Amino acid sequence: MSSHPTSAVVVGAGLAGLTAATALAARGVEVTVLEARERVGGRTHGRQVAPTGWVDAGAAYLGDRHTELLALMAELDLKTTPTTMLGASRFALGTADSARADATRNGRFPPLNAVALGDLFELLDELTAAVRPEAPWLTPDAERLDALTAAEWAEQQLTHPDARLFFPLFLGEMMAADPAAVSVLHMACYLRSGGGIRYLNAFEGGAQQDRIAGGAHQVCERLAERLTQRLGARVLLGETVRAVHQDGGSVTVHSAGGEYRAQVAVMALPPLLANAVDYRPGLPVPRASGATARGCAVKVHLVYPAPIWREHGLSGWSVNAEGPLLSTVDDSPAEAEVGVLTGFVTGAEAHRFAALDPQRQRDSAVEQAARLFPMLPEPIGFHVTDWVNEQYSQGCYAALFGPGDWLRHGPTLTTPHQRVYWAGTETSTEYFGLMEGAIRSGHRVVEQILDRH
Ligand code: FAD
Repeated sequence: MSSHPTSAVVVGAGLAGLTAATALAARGVEVTVLEARERVGGRTHGRQVAPTGWVDAGAAYLGDRHTELLALMAELDLKTTPTTMLGASRFALGTADSARADATRNGRFPPLNAVALGDLFELLDELTAAVRPEAPWLTPDAERLDALTAAEWAEQQLTHPDARLFFPLFLGEMMAADPAAVSVLHMACYLRSGGGIRYLNAFEGGAQQDRIAGGAHQVCERLAERLTQRLGARVLLGETVRAVHQDGGSVTVHSAGGEYRAQVAVMALPPLLANAVDYRPGLPVPRASGATARGCAVKVHLVYPAPIWREHGLSGWSVNAEGPLLSTVDDSPAEAEVGVLTGFVTGAEAHRFAALDPQRQRDSAVEQAARLFPMLPEPIGFHVTDWVNEQYSQGCYAALFGPGDWLRHGPTLTTPHQRVYWAGTETSTEYFGLMEGAIRSGHRVVEQILDRH
């Protein structure tokens, strides 16, 4: 007799769903993947900017500690390409004095009070070190930390104006979060699970050291190809799942196109979307609450004939107190001649920018890029990817756990609901919110299924 289920429906063809589907199909389980979009990849998404050049409209960066992603890339014959950070950085950090409003400096440390920023990072390090990584809800003082927003914490703890100025920019860049939207416990968990502030924030030796040559979207494309062509699974697109019903012996997943019956279902969706599905019997604990918010990130790509800033000794990196582009980075594809500056519009600024009409978005972003890098001509390409309003992502990089969420949902984040199992980067206490977390959640859920059956 088989020691594992013979059939599974996996909902969501992002990294988590396709990792789980692959591991199940490789064990002979009959797998059907249902994906709402007309493409696989979820929060990884490629955008072509030149005949041979792609950039990442979604996830892009990885580092040496992202071992499951690197192993998967090796299996799929994908390579890394280093994120180029040679040259000086640009800073536009307020109007108080001209050295801040328009500064060019070596390295990435902003022209702000070093002691104040040092104190800020020490406070964040203390919070981060105290987190119980495998069970954040058991962190000492969890109740208080989960009730307090990061904005309230900053109000209480940060006295120096430079620390107050820098904190929301840091959180926007790290987590695509408005400090008012996340609990202190969530902020600390996120930073801890990603390897700590220094690792998460660093390029060389850190979480942003490399990109996937040719684009991160290729991981899911290759996984889906292998699943359908070699492992006999089905990956069905345009199949929005609305309901999951179970009786004693099986689970039936109801999608736009039909009904799919299997022995187990894996829900590999962001929590706000997993929570919108109708479960029968109902979930004992919902997957999200009124406090769970969308990560706020809009990515802007400005394409130039070449990475012209490099000729002027600049890295393309900038940090800006005012939007729309709160930071920029050189994301020029190694395979093509073009130069690409990626602008990150994050936190509260993302909502404001997303509401502008396309012309105003373009005008304001191009004008700001030209102010930061005066040598730039008009871009030859301009692209906006608004993840805040993406129906099937509901924000990015990841869901933001608001006050009370970790204590409410944490203990049951990975607890199966009878035959329904949970995956997705937001179910991973390791590398929560990152591609690595999504892949680890896919492996974890398959272990759980095999253990239980
Ligand atoms: P998803 O990729 O969201 O997959 C879920 C899938 O479910 C989607 O395909 C969706 O269409 C589908 N779906 C949703 N609802 C339904 C439904 N009802 N029925 C059927 N299907 C449904 N990570 C990094 O490691 N490094 C980075 O640099 C990085 N930067 C990022 C920048 C941006 C702008 C964004 C958007 C994300 C970034 N991330 C980064 C995060 C990373 O993309 C995610 O952690 C990871 O891709 C999540 O994978 P997942 O499988 O958990 O979820």
